[in-house]
Amino acid sequence: MKLILLGAPGAGKGTVAKLLTKMDGSVQISTGDILRGAVQAGSDLGKQAQAFMNAGDLVPDELIMGIMETRLQEPDCEKGFLLDGFPRTIPQAEALKVLLGKIGIELDMAVNIDVPRDVILDRLTTRRTCSNGDCQAIYNIKSSPPKQEGVCDKCGSPVIQREDETEEAISHRLETYNEKTAPLIGFYDNEGILITVTATSSEAVIAAITEKLGQ
Ligand code: ADP
Ligand code: ZN
Repeated sequence: MKLILLGAPGAGKGTVAKLLTKMDGSVQISTGDILRGAVQAGSDLGKQAQAFMNAGDLVPDELIMGIMETRLQEPDCEKGFLLDGFPRTIPQAEALKVLLGKIGIELDMAVNIDVPRDVILDRLTTRRTCSNGDCQAIYNIKSSPPKQEGVCDKCGSPVIQREDETEEAISHRLETYNEKTAPLIGFYDNEGILITVTATSSEAVIAAITEKLGQ
């Protein structure tokens, strides 16, 4: 399947994407994970992105399009992909449309995961992430803590609160979402490929997606 996952930070895009990859071998492409990996590796890309990310601001469209143009043409994308955190602005959506046209790929749909703001705020403040750039496993201190406090179950690295998960950066990220990313809902509605799922459980979101894909 070839999907775009839309939704505010904390809506569960990453969790849904991970569950979907198990169904048909589609790959999850998270621009956030790619960028955090680059920051950790200290690459040029990481150096250019770091300050924007820590402040909860978006990274410039040109940097993101550079990453995605390469990534979408890698062989593992042939089986399908789940775009998690991209596109994030109207210019990115327009550039993606041109890019997909050029490489001859058609999207199945854009899924808008709609979760109430109070649920989002609660999730983001209690979310913790594995500090190992190659792992980035996600935990929640309330609903899914690591077995040993502060230690990743998968790789043993420290589990930390992301730099952009302070209360201040979170509220800024939500504002940025409303201003820059929410307009994509109208964009994909116009394209005729939008579905909106109002759900607080990832399982319900998956069920809605598979039902729609089966139609
Ligand atoms: P979340 O969905 O929880 O906000 P992400 O991991 O998707 O987090 O993104 C973290 C940060 O990485 C964003 O706040 C932003 O700075 C940057 N980023 C990720 N994807 C994009 C994108 N498509 N365009 C611009 N910036 C991005
Ligand atoms: Zn880990």
